Amino acid sequence: MIPVTKPFLPPIEEYQKYTEGIWQRNWLTNNGPLVNELELKLKDYLQVPHLLFLNNGTIAIQIAIKALQLKGDIITTPFSYVATTSSIVWEGCQPVFVDIDKHTFNIDASKIEAAITPNTSAILATHVYGNPCDIDAIAAIAKKHNLKVIYDAAHCFGTKYKGKSVFAYGDVCTTSFHATKLFHTVEGGAVFCNHADLLRKMAQLRNFGHDGPEHFNEVGINGKNSEFHAAMGLANLKYIQQILDSRKNQTQQYLKWLTREDVQTISVTEDSEFNCAYFPIVFKTSAIADKIFETLNANNVTPRRYFNPSLNLTEPYRNGQVCPVSEDICSRVLCLPVYYNLSNEEIDFICRIVLRTLNN
Ligand SMILES: *Cc1c(COP(=O)(O)O)cnc(C)c1O
Repeated sequence: MIPVTKPFLPPIEEYQKYTEGIWQRNWLTNNGPLVNELELKLKDYLQVPHLLFLNNGTIAIQIAIKALQLKGDIITTPFSYVATTSSIVWEGCQPVFVDIDKHTFNIDASKIEAAITPNTSAILATHVYGNPCDIDAIAAIAKKHNLKVIYDAAHCFGTKYKGKSVFAYGDVCTTSFHATKLFHTVEGGAVFCNHADLLRKMAQLRNFGHDGPEHFNEVGINGKNSEFHAAMGLANLKYIQQILDSRKNQTQQYLKWLTREDVQTISVTEDSEFNCAYFPIVFKTSAIADKIFETLNANNVTPRRYFNPSLNLTEPYRNGQVCPVSEDICSRVLCLPVYYNLSNEEIDFICRIVLRTLNN
């Protein structure tokens, strides 16, 4: 079976080396030494001023919304994982969907201003598949209308924009280190931000709102992560360059076969370095996408429909808004397998099936 993704696992001895330390210290969670070490190593690797390691990427978005004290409407993308939208609603705000660009699959910045009302407090956009949004245009709109910007960069480990980690942009940027992501800590996530005060606030929110052992400043949550998760992150971080390189090679191998008039691949945003976290392809019609999906499954290859359906059409978030571009792309897109050990021969096998089905 060739799944859409497979978690990377480091050599078991390297993980065990960290767990032996955990046994010696008997310190399992609550801002332990491995959590600190991972935060420092990630800061260094990513060259970002601050980050907080959290227990998942969804809590990261919720803490960002809470820390920025957002109210009312939040402009967001319908083309993302459901956690982007659910976090807005969970924090008592309303998602306002703005349609996407059909080439980059990110929120269409030229359509944001028309959606702003006196009720709008922020823009929460996803850098979809690891490909950066139109960050400069969004920053200009936010400044003009006094809005906060949060980026859901769950797919973005290793992506750069204008020479810097894409995590460095936005009032707060969030990511996920879930097992299915390019870099993972089994479960995990992080927030990034350049303002020390905001960071301190998020650090309190992560820890129940504690400001000292018997003092609470904020209504917090349990957003902490453990020594075991940090250990997996430290063991995996050693292999990050190989993981990124293998994704790039796989993408090139796919493109050798699939650069043709009747399939659309992602248009990488200008001035950015794309991490090749996913390999999405968009077919001419939803019927063709369905047929390819079924044929691949019949051959034990399981692509995923990332993302389908468009979030503006899903039951809990349906509010009458239409997003024709997103709805159309959702019906025609498949993500083909990419993961560390996927071989060129397996990619050739997948592509032959795709081409045979297309040519039929
Ligand atoms: C994975 C993902 C999340 C959620 O991250 P978790 O760590 O699984 O909570 C949020 N947004 C996007 C776009 C994702 O892909």
